[in-house]
Amino acid sequence: MIRLEDVRKSYTGGITALDGVSLSVEAGEMLAIVGPSGSGKSTMLNLIGTLDRPTSGSVAIDGLDVGTLPDDRLSRLRATTIGFVFQQFHLAAGVRAVDNVADGLLYAGVRLADRRRLALAALDRVGLGHRATHRPHELSGGERQRVAVARAVVGSPALLLADEPTGNLDTAAGAGVLSVLRDLHATGTTVVVITHDLDIAAALPRRVRMRDGRIL
Ligand code: ADP
Repeated sequence: MIRLEDVRKSYTGGITALDGVSLSVEAGEMLAIVGPSGSGKSTMLNLIGTLDRPTSGSVAIDGLDVGTLPDDRLSRLRATTIGFVFQQFHLAAGVRAVDNVADGLLYAGVRLADRRRLALAALDRVGLGHRATHRPHELSGGERQRVAVARAVVGSPALLLADEPTGNLDTAAGAGVLSVLRDLHATGTTVVVITHDLDIAAALPRRVRMRDGRIL
């Protein structure tokens, strides 16, 4: 599902965010990426998510070499294969949960009625079918993040990438979100989670430790 080979990422100003990283992740794995702030975790996740391209080295997702794909094929890969969850939820304010989730299918070419139907099914999967018409400000932090997870997986992506998904949540709400991610893993989704939470990392089947832009 993921293959990075000797990936480097530099930014102007001489910052090397990734300094020769190689990583293979099989389809269906679930892993935590851990390491101190600034060690390159988000940079690596953004490259895996094809939101950014490496300075050198290769990134292949689902067997496709990201470096050689034209932009339209890359957008298509993102829309069909990859779901994203962020620490800050990024839900549209004032928009009902079902419509926030349905927006996850905007770029997948699905008709509105089908988007709504799939959105309701995704809300059910994260245990929020009864909150479909609530707006984000009417939901708890944990519920908001579960809506964000539903939006990320409404198109049934093979790969789910989560950058500190529990970073803004208390322990109980974080456990709820983690449990949803585990359920997705159990049904075959490949799940990659950046986390500062050592208990969460310890509970996942695989850990990748980073420091100074390298995998330890
Ligand atoms: P982490 O997620 O582990 O906290 P990051 O991947 O965010 O680490 O950052 C790794 C390094 O790259 C840091 O030194 C950070 O300041 C730098 N960096 C990240 N993004 C940019 C950017 N867009 N421009 C310049 N430097 C960046």
